[in-house]
Amino acid sequence: MSEEKNDRGKRNEVFSGNNPQGLPSTNVMMEDFGFEVPVETVPLPSRGVTYPADSPMHGVETLSIRAMTAREEDILTSKALIKKGTVISELLKSCIVDKGFDPDAALTGDRNALMVALRITGYGAGYRVEVDCPACGQRSKQEFNLAELPIKRLEIDPISLGANLFECELPVTKKTVRWRFLSGKEEREISQTAERRKKQGQLNDNLVTTRLTHCLQSVGGITDKNKLSFFIRNMPAKDSLFLRRYIDKNEPGIDMKSWMDCPSCLESSEVKLPLGASFFWPDAE
Ligand SMILES: [Zn+2]
Repeated sequence: MSEEKNDRGKRNEVFSGNNPQGLPSTNVMMEDFGFEVPVETVPLPSRGVTYPADSPMHGVETLSIRAMTAREEDILTSKALIKKGTVISELLKSCIVDKGFDPDAALTGDRNALMVALRITGYGAGYRVEVDCPACGQRSKQEFNLAELPIKRLEIDPISLGANLFECELPVTKKTVRWRFLSGKEEREISQTAERRKKQGQLNDNLVTTRLTHCLQSVGGITDKNKLSFFIRNMPAKDSLFLRRYIDKNEPGIDMKSWMDCPSCLESSEVKLPLGASFFWPDAE
């Protein structure tokens, strides 16, 4: 394909307020059907600094995505993929133009940014969904603009470039701990395990320690898994809360919060956008 044709590729910024450099788009549909599947660039909240040097995502600030087509609707409706819980991974693999991108290795926040971008390029930025009013509890249908969700970029430095490993000191035990952000795959495994326990009638009463077990990599230089799990179960609640809040506060991603006006009590509140079925299956206009 000629340079000239590549340059004709329609490229928009998916999110307002970002200015990623464009990458060449392909014009497959253009050749025969005169329709161009748009390619857009999406900023990666992690700026690629947590991916190892041999990863195609290392140091990558933006990725290119191709807008969803009917092929991706096949993925969205695949019963097998829904059952396996890999719909979003397959969707991302199918739409990300950059070679070698592994959605399972991507941080949750990077995946979420890509997922929202795919939704915007596929069906537009308007997202109508039912939410509960935090003030009075009344459920109402609200319309949100996904393009206005702010990107939260990574602002703390890993212990070395290309390492998903960060360090901080706990306030009570004064221990220096090293921890990592979870990948989309790990998040999925945690929720699948919780789901399985629920089905078996077991209580999910260990969510805090389960997450910390996945995040925490060393305490005062000790990396032994058994010792770490002992530390996690017995660490002071204040240290545990500090660590969870510190990780949350610094986790790169897309802030899925927006404002709503309640039609019942007329109160304005900030709400977390639910990722319901209509996220990829918008209402008929
Ligand atoms: Zn209300």
